[in-house]
Amino acid sequence: MRQFSFIFFQPLREHILSISVEAIGCVDNYLPNACRFTYPIPMSLKVFALGTGVCADTPQTTVSRQPPGFLLDIDGMYLLFDCSEGIRFRLKNAGVDISQVTHVAVSHAHPDHAALPQFIQTKYCSHLFGTPSATSTQLRIYLPAQLARDFPHVWNWHQPENDGRYWDDFVPKIIGMEDGFTEELAPGVTLTAHHVYHGFGRHPAMGFRLETPHGVIAYTGDTGVCDALTQLAQNAHLLIADCSTRMGQEYTSGYGHMGPRQCGELALRAGVKELWLTHYFDCDAPDAMRNEARNAGYFGTIVLATDGMVWESGAS
Ligand SMILES: [Zn+2]
Ligand SMILES: [Zn+2]
Repeated sequence: MRQFSFIFFQPLREHILSISVEAIGCVDNYLPNACRFTYPIPMSLKVFALGTGVCADTPQTTVSRQPPGFLLDIDGMYLLFDCSEGIRFRLKNAGVDISQVTHVAVSHAHPDHAALPQFIQTKYCSHLFGTPSATSTQLRIYLPAQLARDFPHVWNWHQPENDGRYWDDFVPKIIGMEDGFTEELAPGVTLTAHHVYHGFGRHPAMGFRLETPHGVIAYTGDTGVCDALTQLAQNAHLLIADCSTRMGQEYTSGYGHMGPRQCGELALRAGVKELWLTHYFDCDAPDAMRNEARNAGYFGTIVLATDGMVWESGAS
């Protein structure tokens, strides 16, 4: 959708590298100590907007937007930012089988962001009833540390017949993230996470930054204005920002969301190339929201994200 190319990147597709990924902050007793994925050095980067909406429609809603979910296609390695209800159907619409999704990073556990049990069950059943592949049993789930510690209880609530276990041939790896967490997912591809401000500062919530040879993507998750956001979004090619506060109702503390002006200020401060406003209610006029973000002094591209949009490195 927009073009950002790195002139210093040398394609090295022929170099297939094998990396060993250590279990970091692993909280599940049933997991193996480590797993091994093999990925090529990435050649391309795409972002699919699978869910740009909120937890409910409003009377003003005219365009159907699903709850949060963004799929990052890193040359065929699939990473989800947030995992809301029914995400599998939207993956399918984007032409991606759930069995191909090997990495899921959840910003926080509010129900409109974290339908993880459903995702895990669907991925397992797709493996069971579908055609096994190299990725069908691979799943790394990244959660704020406190939520990772609590997740076994959630899973046990869904699967008491297994005593909260997973299955012999499918054991997702749950990775708890502390502030400043970083992991190399593939050669040159790094996921970083920082705590952000949400739920009156009491909800463990994180924003993400993905660095690749073809671009940097930042995703705020749900958050109010906080220092970590500038670090997460610094010089990003695409910033996907929570914009669920209405115009004129912005605050710097309180529950923890941003409005269009605050998103524009963040984009300006961090020097991002393109800003996607997401997670907004259909209460304010789109042009007014864009203008409000623009009035913050940000001169990059501003997009009110809608489901089905695709951002692609190297596109125009
Ligand atoms: Zn939330
Ligand atoms: Zn939310």
